Amino acid sequence: MKRIYCGLLALGLALGASGCGQVRQPEAVETVGEAQVEVEKPKYVALTFDDGPRYNTTGPLLDGLAKRGVVATFFVIGRQVEGNEDLICRMAADGHQIGNHTYSHVALQDLDPDAVVEEIQKTEVVLEHLVGEREFWLRPPYGLIDSSRAALVDTPMVYWTVDPEDWRILDSDRVAEAVVSKVESGDVVLLHDFYPTSVEAALEIVDRLAAEGYTFVTVEQLFRINGVAPQTGVLYASPEKTRKIS
Ligand SMILES: [Zn+2]
Repeated sequence: MKRIYCGLLALGLALGASGCGQVRQPEAVETVGEAQVEVEKPKYVALTFDDGPRYNTTGPLLDGLAKRGVVATFFVIGRQVEGNEDLICRMAADGHQIGNHTYSHVALQDLDPDAVVEEIQKTEVVLEHLVGEREFWLRPPYGLIDSSRAALVDTPMVYWTVDPEDWRILDSDRVAEAVVSKVESGDVVLLHDFYPTSVEAALEIVDRLAAEGYTFVTVEQLFRINGVAPQTGVLYASPEKTRKIS
C-alpha cells in the first residue's frame, strides 16, 4: 500500500466524500400548514483557484475560507507542491476539491502526446502521495487543449463561466465587483490563489454572495447538485455548458 502523507486526514475525507457534506438539496416549495409557500431557489456557485499552491497567498486564503465555512476547488501546479505539502493536506482536510493544473503549467496543445500524459500523471503522483488515490479533474493551463490531446485525458476537464481577469486587474475591489455583478447560480468562477489581491477579492466575493444567499460548493458538488455525471475528456465550463474543443 502506498504511503499517504496526510495520513488519517485522507481516510476521513474519503469516508465523508460521498455525502456531499453540508450541501443543501434544492427545494422549490415548502409546506406551511395547509398552504404551499414559494421559497427562493437555492443558489450555488463554485469558486476555483488556479496556479497555486503558493505559501504566502494560498495559506491566508485557506484561513479565510475555513473561517467562513466555505469550500472551493484548487487546480494546483504539480511542481509547486514541493515545500507546500501542508497546504495540500489542509485543502483535503477542509473539504476542498483538488484538481490538476499540469506539472509545469504548459499549454498542452503545444506538447506531443507523451509529454501531455507526463504533465498530467506527474502531478497525479505528487497529489496521490499526499491525499491518496482519487480523481483529480484537470484544468488545462490557459483553458487550452485540442481534441487529439483531450482524448488522452482520463478525467473530466473544467473551464469556467466567469473570468474577472484577476491576474491582469490586480485590484481586489474591482475583481470582486467583476464577479459579483456577473455571477448567477451554477457558475464556475476563475480566480488565482497566486496573487494577494485575488485572495482579498475571493473573501470579499464570499461575503457579498453569502449575503445574497449563495452557497459555495466544489465543482464536483456542483455537478452532483445539477444531476450531471461528468465524462472524461470533456471540457466543461459548468455542469450545464461544455466548451467546444477543436
Ligand atoms: Zn494557470
